[in-house]
Amino acid sequence: MESPDFFIHEYNANLFILRESGCSHYEKPFLFLVFGQDRALLLDTGAGKSDLAPLIDRLITQWSDRHQKPKPKLIVAHTHNHGDHKSRDKQFAGRPGIEVVPATVPANEKVFGITADAGQFDLGQRTLDVLAMPGHDDAAIIFYDRRTGILFTGDNIYPGRLYIRDWATYARSTQRLVDFAQSHLVSHLLGNHIEQSATPFLEFPIGSIYQPNEHTLELSRAHLIELNQELIRLKGKPARLALRDLTIYPSTPGTPELRQTQIDTQKKQRATQYAQPPLER
Ligand SMILES: [Zn+2]
Ligand SMILES: [Zn+2]
Repeated sequence: MESPDFFIHEYNANLFILRESGCSHYEKPFLFLVFGQDRALLLDTGAGKSDLAPLIDRLITQWSDRHQKPKPKLIVAHTHNHGDHKSRDKQFAGRPGIEVVPATVPANEKVFGITADAGQFDLGQRTLDVLAMPGHDDAAIIFYDRRTGILFTGDNIYPGRLYIRDWATYARSTQRLVDFAQSHLVSHLLGNHIEQSATPFLEFPIGSIYQPNEHTLELSRAHLIELNQELIRLKGKPARLALRDLTIYPSTPGTPELRQTQIDTQKKQRATQYAQPPLER
């Protein structure tokens, strides 16, 4: 009850990692705010409904004060087109100095210059490479930050359940990302959820609002290569497969079985973890 809706981690003076609190929404997604000299990029707007725009505005004002620069224009884009990554788009739409890029394939292609190859997007002395990564979702894209070597991998790869909707497409996308990573320095893979505990092979149940002893957010290029190897080994046959730090999951979170687990887990945790309000549905 006392925790803020967003936790903010300053990775460095030009990159902020935000995480939505489990008390705000069980998906607990991560958001990223990346600053170039001329523009700032907000990746995703989260899962809940609480205020985000004032917080982002405060971080942008703080950045411009610190750097003695005018406030940069804000681009709001999305790792993909799922509800837990775009729930607060309305808070940004139609406001001066802000462009909201809809989470669609045509919009991503146009704004980020994506073709069969990666597009390039310049924030001002900071170029991001942008790759299409369909498979979890048609409009999924991956950003590579040349400045930090970070791959922002969205829901495609993170320490948790990788829900694969279109298996063949996802396998092709993963191979393409491996190829990209062979020719670029990769410091971290930063995805948008943590569903894995720090104990190898152990995941938290879907719906968890409280996750003690979590896995770290960051994965390495080695995880990407391991994932790709397993997909090749499965020869196109969808299968649920637990790896040490993530689980391949040929399903969507909307299936009745998962939905019931999510509700049961949340109800139980809200009743037993501190003074949480009951589940509203
Ligand atoms: Zn998600
Ligand atoms: Zn998703």
